[in-house]
Amino acid sequence: MGSAKSLSLEPNSLWFATSMERANPFRTKAARAVYLDRRLAELYPETPVPLAHRDAYTLLLAVLLSAQCTDQRVNQVTPALFAAATTPAAMAALPVARIAAIIRPCGLAPQKAKAISALSKILVEQHGGKVPRTFAELEALPGVGHKTASVVMAQAFGVPAFPVDTHIHRLAQRWGLSSGRSVEQTERDLKALFPQERWNQLHLRIIFYGREHCTARGCDGTACELCRTLFPTRKKPVRPGSARLVRDPLKRA
Ligand code: SF4
Repeated sequence: MGSAKSLSLEPNSLWFATSMERANPFRTKAARAVYLDRRLAELYPETPVPLAHRDAYTLLLAVLLSAQCTDQRVNQVTPALFAAATTPAAMAALPVARIAAIIRPCGLAPQKAKAISALSKILVEQHGGKVPRTFAELEALPGVGHKTASVVMAQAFGVPAFPVDTHIHRLAQRWGLSSGRSVEQTERDLKALFPQERWNQLHLRIIFYGREHCTARGCDGTACELCRTLFPTRKKPVRPGSARLVRDPLKRA
C-alpha cells in the first residue's frame, strides 16, 4: 500500500521528491482521493439507489432488511411486504408473524420482523407516523444503527453522510485511503478526504465498483484499472483489516 505520508521537501531531497512524484503522482491520500472521485464519476455517472422504495419509510425498511442479505434479494421481497403495508400505522397493525413470513428469504426474519413492527409503532406514537430526520432519532429506533441511519439520511433526505459497508471498508484500505482499523475510522477518514457535497454519490459509486470488481478473496490489488493506476509498483496483496463490520446483525455498524 502506498505511504500516506506527505513528501519531504528538505532542500537536498527536493530533486528526489519531485522525481518520485513524477513517477507516481498518487503517492498522497489527497491525490488518490481527487483521482478516485473523478474516475468513479466517469465510470458511474448515474447513482440510482439500489434498494427499491417509495419513500423514506419504505427505504428504512429495505435498508433494515439488507442486513446480512443482498440488495437483490431485498428487492425481491419488498414488493410483497409493501403490498401488505406501506405506512407505519398499517405495518404496526400487522402481526409480527405475518411480517416474518413475508421477509423470511432475507434471513434473520424473527429479529427483523420484530424490529420492523416495533419501529413502526414508535414512528406512529412518537414521530407522527413519519421517519425522523436526525441521526440521533433514527439510531434510537429498533434495528437501526449508524449505517442504516446514514443511508436513510443520504438517500431519503439528501443529508451528506458516508455509510460504510463491506465494499467501502475494503476498498478504502486497498486504495490506501484509510488504515481500516474500524468502520468508524474508515468513515472518519473518508469524510476528511472528500468534499461533503460528494459523499452521497461517492459512497454509492464505491459500492458499485466494489460489487463489480472487488471481492473479499482472490485479488492481490493489481487486477483492475484503479489499483494499477494508483499503485503501479504494488507487489504485495492488500488484505482487509480485522475490523468487525457488524456488532449487532441488525445494527450494521
Ligand atoms: S485491483 Fe483488486 S483490490 Fe484493487 S480495486 Fe481492483 S479488484 Fe479491488
